[in-house]
Amino acid sequence: MPIHAKTTLLGSDWVHDVRIEIDQGRIRHIQTQANAEPGDERVDVLLPALGNLHSHAFQRAMAGMTETRAAGRESFWTWRNLMYRFLDRLTPEQIEAIAALVFMEMQEAGYASVGEFHYVHHQPGGAPYDQLSELSQRIFAAAQQTGIGLTHLPVLYTYGGVKQEALSGGQLRFGNDVARFLELVDDCRPALPETDSKLGIAPHSLRATSPTDLTEVLRATPEGPVHIHIAEQVQEVTDVQAMLGQRPVAWLLDNVPLGARWCLIHATHMTDAETTALARSGAVAGLCPITEANLGDGIFNGAEYVAEGGRFGIGSDSNIRISLPEELRTLEYSQRLREQQRAVLVSEGSVGHALYTKAALGGAQALGRNAGEIAEGKLADLVAINRDHPTLCALSDDQLLDGLCFAAPDGLVTDLWSAGRHRVKQGRHVARDRIIPAYRSAIADLLASV
Ligand code: ZN
Repeated sequence: MPIHAKTTLLGSDWVHDVRIEIDQGRIRHIQTQANAEPGDERVDVLLPALGNLHSHAFQRAMAGMTETRAAGRESFWTWRNLMYRFLDRLTPEQIEAIAALVFMEMQEAGYASVGEFHYVHHQPGGAPYDQLSELSQRIFAAAQQTGIGLTHLPVLYTYGGVKQEALSGGQLRFGNDVARFLELVDDCRPALPETDSKLGIAPHSLRATSPTDLTEVLRATPEGPVHIHIAEQVQEVTDVQAMLGQRPVAWLLDNVPLGARWCLIHATHMTDAETTALARSGAVAGLCPITEANLGDGIFNGAEYVAEGGRFGIGSDSNIRISLPEELRTLEYSQRLREQQRAVLVSEGSVGHALYTKAALGGAQALGRNAGEIAEGKLADLVAINRDHPTLCALSDDQLLDGLCFAAPDGLVTDLWSAGRHRVKQGRHVARDRIIPAYRSAIADLLASV
């Protein structure tokens, strides 16, 4: 069904009275100065919907459970311990129910697509399921239930640390050598849920993948997105430097063909030289501002990176909170606190506009989606918001994305399309009444078992 928008963003320009026709998930025709016709979906402000480039769906079920301080210093590593306790229990059915909930929340928050960095592959204890890709199939089922655009990123996780320690405890569910990992990827390929779904790979990190394995897996996978966790924690930088003789980002720059198919998740701890080189590589920095703040990771080298033309997108990572405006706001505010300046992540003009449009393009690139802007031929990843809200009604077009990022509450999304699939209407996901009871029931079973 065609969409008529009172206001929309075409490239960098605000345009009024636009009618958009969609065919097979793509934008077929854009007509400006158009009247709405009977049967059109009428919306107020239409924007390109962002891709959420980094998610571990199951971690949504832990949100709010680790915000306490025990004796001694609470840290990233104690958070990881709770995650491993969960991993001793999680069933395929629970993984599907949790993923469906969080994908639904993402769409209601304005994300049309998600990069699922999927690393739980096996049964508790490490034995494979009868079907090697069982848990990937559960992610596909959740994507199908919600209609979200999925870029599935099966994770190669082989070692318990940079010295190639054996996996133990909860990690046993992640483990594959390269041969079995490639088998798993092949097993996923025919089962992708939608025609716009993509399959990439995710060598977990330089802690969990060896240089030889990384080379091998890249040789076997010449196309599609490649995502890797890099330089999230200071400890990780120290460990990698001790073992490989270089900091993680520097090592990657020197040892793999970094380019447009790559997404470096976090890249929090970089020298100025690493920052410049990454910015010029054409790869995307996958920033997860809420999670990075929640875990106390550190602050990304944003001012330098953006000044050098670096590409970036945002991800909700641990899924502690699903809020697109808050991700963008946290990104900018962390930079302001560090630089003791305002409007850091833009050289001139609206910060909200720069953050939103760059994250749209960077997210689409990282997910391998032909999206990120409203243009003919692009996927119809679209989101509508209502500017009648008191926090937006006084703002000009050019101020609108500043209002959305910095002033408005969550919940202004009225409609969302993932590759033309109209799944959020009047602010609610169309499958909400089915997904939430299934989640409640799954989580009750999980909690009863841990
Ligand atoms: Zn992550």
